[in-house]
Amino acid sequence: MAEEAIKYDRLSIHNQWDEICGQLRMEFGATAFESWLKPLSVNSFDDGVMRLSAPTAFMKNWVIAHYSDRIHKIWEHKNPDIKKVQVIVQNMQNTKDDSLLRKFPSTPTPREFHAANSQMTTLAGATSKFNPAFTFENFVVGKTNEFAYVAARKVAESRNVSFNPLFLYAGVGLGKTHLMHAIGQYIQQNDPSRHVVYISAEQFLYKFVNALRYKDTAAFKEQFRSVDVLMIDDVQFLANKEKTQDEFFYTFNSLMEGGRQIVLSADKSPNDLDGIESRLKSRLNSGLVADIMPTDFDLRMGILNNKAAQLGVSVPKNVAEFLAQKISSNIRELEGSLKRIAAHQLLSDREITLDMTQDVLKDMLRSIDRKTTIDEIQKKVAEHFNISVKEMQSSRRARNVARPRQIAMYLAKQLTSRSLPEIGRKFDRDHTTVMHAVRKVEELVLEDAAMAESIESLKRSLEN
Ligand code: ADP
Ligand code: MG
Repeated sequence: MAEEAIKYDRLSIHNQWDEICGQLRMEFGATAFESWLKPLSVNSFDDGVMRLSAPTAFMKNWVIAHYSDRIHKIWEHKNPDIKKVQVIVQNMQNTKDDSLLRKFPSTPTPREFHAANSQMTTLAGATSKFNPAFTFENFVVGKTNEFAYVAARKVAESRNVSFNPLFLYAGVGLGKTHLMHAIGQYIQQNDPSRHVVYISAEQFLYKFVNALRYKDTAAFKEQFRSVDVLMIDDVQFLANKEKTQDEFFYTFNSLMEGGRQIVLSADKSPNDLDGIESRLKSRLNSGLVADIMPTDFDLRMGILNNKAAQLGVSVPKNVAEFLAQKISSNIRELEGSLKRIAAHQLLSDREITLDMTQDVLKDMLRSIDRKTTIDEIQKKVAEHFNISVKEMQSSRRARNVARPRQIAMYLAKQLTSRSLPEIGRKFDRDHTTVMHAVRKVEELVLEDAAMAESIESLKRSLEN
């Protein structure tokens, strides 16, 4: 089955997984995604079986129970050779840079060796591929992203190195990748002699690990030598990958010394990045650090109008306002909602109205509407079981207190967007206790119809 295994270059499997993650995040919402899906990683693929690894057995079971069918469906759609998706446990804590090495431990065949090497030549020789939609023209500028936009434009337009490095940081879906692609495309068009390389930190890691594996780090280093502009996206991905950070540090320094432009992005400011060596942090800080803040209403309206025009749909003002108000955290989701109603209009020939929008986006809106607080949940559940909130938060383990506590934790996970540690804090417990409670209640709901019903009714009364 080695043949099968090498039919896919592993990078493309990783890219497919990235795309699937984007879709899962849209479908299940950011909270569920962050808790259950983001910790998964691709382990191996052979004989039609895709193996994903989860950090704990609990997560594995949860993913199998709730998400693996959907993951399989989406993946099969992208890649019909995927017949099965399995989830296995792999303790990530012990996995450092050589994780990928251990995942693919067999000796490389000549074909694999060649495949890995030709990937490297692509980076050195050819120009990077950019999303043609991610241009400066398509980037809507508002108060919250103006600074980053201006800095990115400046870097793109200067023939000489300007801010170096330019470090962009922002939360998910706020335009980091868009701006980096815009810089890259601008330079490719206006100054084609400059060699631009854009690469995600994950790909950087992957290539480096491959280079180690094939004992070809010289070729790895070589490919960055002729680069004029190096852009590395999502450097938070290098957290705790010490060897790769060392290599990155080396590449970074030699490019800076050679007067080349570097652009980086991350989800946090250099100082706030966890698991990044301090000497590297200080380098990341040494140029211009520009953040993109969460969007405001005006920017969201601007983006909606812009995207609607691109899609060639006309969206009534009240619908745009409704969306801009409701979907506030992530531009990708805002865009996704617009695409969904546009597609719906096209397929069902229904006019875009507020009613239609609310109907089409039901699921998405429901998850956004969950504004229930943990305090309310504790109060309601305590009332229901005739105990006090104090008892619920106490250390008592008697069943008549412990069970309601578990149910309240479970509901907090279901009805709020709080993370497990945040929920834990409200109960004076740690996140593993919350995780355990969630699992316990999941089991109870399946086994005990009366329990299921009383949880359902608690849920309904909390949601109203
Ligand atoms: P990030 O890399 O920060 O997670 P992306 O750059 O991938 O986010 O942006 C997510 C989506 O939102 C992309 O489709 C992008 O085109 C769009 N987007 C983000 N910011 C803007 C903006 N200011 N104007 C137009 N589209 C934007
Ligand atoms: Mg990005």
